[in-house]
Amino acid sequence: MNINKKRFLVLSLINILIVVHVVLWYKFGYQRIGSFSLNGVVSLFGIGLLNSAAAFFIFVSIMTVFFGRLFCGWGCHFAFFQDCALKILNKLGIHPHIIHSKANIIQYVFLLKTLTAICEFWLIYGIPHFHIGFGDSPVMTADLPRNPIIIASFIIFDAFLFIYLLGSRAFCRYVCPWAPMLAIFDNMSFWRIRKINACKGCMSCTKTCTMGIQVHQEIAQHNAVVNPNCIRCLACKNACQNNTLSYRWGLHTISITRRIKWLIPQHSNYSWYYDFFLISCGLILAYYTQKWLGSFQTFLGAAWGLCFGIFMINILAKRYVPLSETVQQKRKLLTVGLITLSSFAWFWATSTSSETRILLRGNRFFDLREYDNAIATYRQALNEFPSNQEIRAALALAYKQAGDYNRAMAEYKYLISCNPFNAALYNNLGTVYYRNEQYDLAIEEYRKAIQLDDHLVAAYGNLGLVFLKKGNVQEAIPFLRKVFKNEEDMLKYIMMLYKPGREQTG
Ligand code: SF4
Ligand code: SF4
Ligand code: SF4
Repeated sequence: MNINKKRFLVLSLINILIVVHVVLWYKFGYQRIGSFSLNGVVSLFGIGLLNSAAAFFIFVSIMTVFFGRLFCGWGCHFAFFQDCALKILNKLGIHPHIIHSKANIIQYVFLLKTLTAICEFWLIYGIPHFHIGFGDSPVMTADLPRNPIIIASFIIFDAFLFIYLLGSRAFCRYVCPWAPMLAIFDNMSFWRIRKINACKGCMSCTKTCTMGIQVHQEIAQHNAVVNPNCIRCLACKNACQNNTLSYRWGLHTISITRRIKWLIPQHSNYSWYYDFFLISCGLILAYYTQKWLGSFQTFLGAAWGLCFGIFMINILAKRYVPLSETVQQKRKLLTVGLITLSSFAWFWATSTSSETRILLRGNRFFDLREYDNAIATYRQALNEFPSNQEIRAALALAYKQAGDYNRAMAEYKYLISCNPFNAALYNNLGTVYYRNEQYDLAIEEYRKAIQLDDHLVAAYGNLGLVFLKKGNVQEAIPFLRKVFKNEEDMLKYIMMLYKPGREQTG
């Protein structure tokens, strides 16, 4: 079987395994092992948590040190979608050219942003304490968008349009933050594509390279492919009729620093100001997209920006807008300048505010059930930012959990006076009354919550619960019916609450 077909099968299998994991998680409640994602680097170094994602990051890093970016060629779930998109375009008779541009600086900015998140954790939670918690990691799809328009946008822009405009594996070459990180490990790798026979210079290897690497040149200069963009797909080895290439072990091409710069193409298809225009489009759209749609959508925003930028460049190129090359000799300086400026712009734009940082620190104490510490942190935050209602709501919740119901009520009443139409606040106040065994007052607040938002399922459930607590099953049932999809589950719930010695919670 052709090596590309084998690889496609392996990538399909990876996605099938992800589907199995998601089904096990949601359908069968098997949640002991969470996601396998390179994002584990953040939990590992940020808070010292060795979860499944962190273990996966360690595994992929070690594998890359030995075998190169084999993961990118054979193990990444998004590689499958990109290769599918390319296959479909090829079937339609479209064979996109691989475009190189320094706009892939965007990847470095995203990587720096990820690494900054680690520093943010240190600022918020202090020095990380190493601990193991394999289940303490979300399901693989936790970060993924649920909105069908966003999902369709990802497929259209990050796969099809991106590849159509920039060539195969465009997402890997322009947006993915893990590419530059894995490239560092790749530089040390022992196994790589090596020259084992004389080369005839036919360039079949270069023409088939998935990542647009000049394979024939690299083996002429180094007797091996040393570009850290090589994903060990083995397409070049397969294409060489002369048996010149082999994927094998060796020592002489190992280097930690020598080729990092190669991830930014030496020769761009565009002039520097077009590159700059592309970087600006990618970063600006990425920034606003993450702000409006959430952090995962950053990658979507970058794709939108880059696709828009290329459309504009193509239009300008068709109109023969003169391309001045007068500053060619300053290219290196410009590249460094672009990286620095883009990175600073990104950090400035997205750095966490100090009030959010204190809030997160308090939340961390709350998650660890250290309510006294959480309350002290929230109160300190409120002293500094008295109008921040998010902090006040967190403080009210912490008071409730700590059993200080009077203070919790006072905080919720204050919040309600500022937000009289917020149904969730009435529901929360009702829960404090419930905990304090003031059932009639609890019922009053839950009813207000439902009046404001008749879709607030929690309030129906709480009303049912408080009526059960009062021994009034008949009144509880209509509310519980709003929560339970079938009668059997509802009856089980009612029976469960009446088991002797069972503690009821609100
Ligand atoms: S560069 Fe990123 S998206 Fe591409 S294969 Fe590697 S990890 Fe996956
Ligand atoms: S395909 Fe083989 S013979 Fe042709 S240039 Fe590449 S390595 Fe040399
Ligand atoms: S150099 Fe060969 S193995 Fe590396 S990415 Fe290109 S085709 Fe794949």
